[in-house]
Amino acid sequence: MHIQRGIAVSPGVAIGPALVLDTEGVVIAHRNVGPDGVEAEVRRLAVALTAAAEDAQDRGRVLAQRLGGGVAGILFAHSSLYADSAIRRDIEAHIRGQLYTAEYAVSRSLRNFIKLFEALPADTHLARMRADLLDMEKQVLGRLLGVTPTGQLPLSAEPVIVLASDLTPSETAGLDPNTVHAFATESGGPTSHTAIMADALGIPAVVGLGRFLSDVSGGDRVIVDGTQGLLILDPDPPTLARYEAARRSQVTDSGLVAVTLKDVPAVTLDGVSVRLLGNIEFPPEARGCIDYGGDGVGLYRTEFLYVNKVTDPTEEEHFAAYRAVLKELGPDRPMVIRTLDIGADKFSGASELLAGEKNPFLGLRSVRLCLKNLDLFKTQLRAILRASVFGDVRVMFPMVSTVTELRQCKALLRDVCEELEEAGERFNPDLPVGTMIEVPSAALMADVLAREVDFFSIGTNDLVQYTLAADRNNEMVAGLYNPADPAVLKLMKMVVDAATRHGTDVNVCGEMSGEPLFVPLLLGLGLRQLSATPRKLPDIKRTIRSLTVADAERVAAEALRLDTAQEVGRYLREQHRRIRPDAAD
Ligand code: PEP
Ligand code: MG
Repeated sequence: MHIQRGIAVSPGVAIGPALVLDTEGVVIAHRNVGPDGVEAEVRRLAVALTAAAEDAQDRGRVLAQRLGGGVAGILFAHSSLYADSAIRRDIEAHIRGQLYTAEYAVSRSLRNFIKLFEALPADTHLARMRADLLDMEKQVLGRLLGVTPTGQLPLSAEPVIVLASDLTPSETAGLDPNTVHAFATESGGPTSHTAIMADALGIPAVVGLGRFLSDVSGGDRVIVDGTQGLLILDPDPPTLARYEAARRSQVTDSGLVAVTLKDVPAVTLDGVSVRLLGNIEFPPEARGCIDYGGDGVGLYRTEFLYVNKVTDPTEEEHFAAYRAVLKELGPDRPMVIRTLDIGADKFSGASELLAGEKNPFLGLRSVRLCLKNLDLFKTQLRAILRASVFGDVRVMFPMVSTVTELRQCKALLRDVCEELEEAGERFNPDLPVGTMIEVPSAALMADVLAREVDFFSIGTNDLVQYTLAADRNNEMVAGLYNPADPAVLKLMKMVVDAATRHGTDVNVCGEMSGEPLFVPLLLGLGLRQLSATPRKLPDIKRTIRSLTVADAERVAAEALRLDTAQEVGRYLREQHRRIRPDAAD
């Protein structure tokens, strides 16, 4: 048994066979053969190795004509790897000695070699052999299983646990929770869009685990504990039994908490109401906002309308998605539609608009990109306005970093209103307009921005990364990326104070608001509205119902006096234990 610790990003436990992506990209369904099947497996191996070697030679020749021998030499070298008798003998020994199928023997044998190379300093010739061996594994398995490796996520009809070096948000969006019961990745940070997607889909997930892929083969039994942030390879029987029990009880527990708290109000012990809203990515999630006791949708991330599409969505596609959410919410529950927030980690490469960014987090993304592509922007604004007659629709602009930008967005919205009026289309002329506060410059200018809009929504996921200059997706700086950092708290206080002075509504919609640990602090800062992943609402509600506003204000005042994120974190954990003794740490 091997236990590896990473970053817990989506709670729950799953147990099942591994589907290893980035390497074989296929499921190895059968791991063993009977003694009389051994020779057939050895022959299958020989055929697959020869085919892969010939293919590498062919591709090498084509490349040599186009680019010369240097680059093509890599493929010729691959071709000789397939013939390498030491590797070949080792794979055969796995088939004969362990009665493995050819597929499983290839995976086990090559992974042992890969592990040896992993220990070497990067960028040496031998370390680069690791990549060559991974490629070899992928090519040979592709042939044994009759699939050509394409780099696409493979589909699986069987329930699996996806293990990968990394997953893009769009790949994660493409996972089917009916068959993918959990995933675990070597890279990734706590508020990456991959993590948010996992949470939205309700798939237990752990990211930022560091290297583990060479220790596991497709079909091996693994456990993902998305609550504790653990990946367990080859679990021993007692561990397996413990997790089987945890898995059975989690289904009943979470359902029970949600049902018991659904209809009780989110009020503090001294009777102050807090509005709880849900963050969604897809229309069907709107139902979850209500089922988990939310008052509406506080953040509809519309970029998911653009994922895995060849062309951008039409006005009608936008409109249909918004109507679908409104159908679930009814006429009185709010739906805050955030305009396209594409760029950087979000589906980079998915759109031609984003090609060639050298520093995408600081580049042409989000509202900056929309303001340069007015047709794209107007298409979405028209659909939002048209949907506004069917419910409590509000529009929100993401990644605003200057007052000018916000004014440009509002001017465009006015233009679209005029165009719709001329076309005789109905819309709400008083559509509430908000801005996200997720860039430090916007927080610093909150006093001015507050005069421009009806509401703020603090996007702590980005506010933390831009304040601390720490990539939200990079596990190497996950220690720096901390919403409890005093610099972040000071900016948040400025924003809430500015909003309060101007009578502007203010909400928090980053992952921070879904953590009960931060709830006393947020209420103490003056927030009366929180928007989080729907599944997290019952737990937040419990915390709200366990404290008074005076208590929360004391917590916030003390947290703001501390010097480091670690001190704030320690203090908030202490307070959380006091306020919610029922909750596990
Ligand atoms: C945020 O940045 O906090 C936020 C809610 O937006 P996203 O996570 O979609 O960037
Ligand atoms: Mg953001």
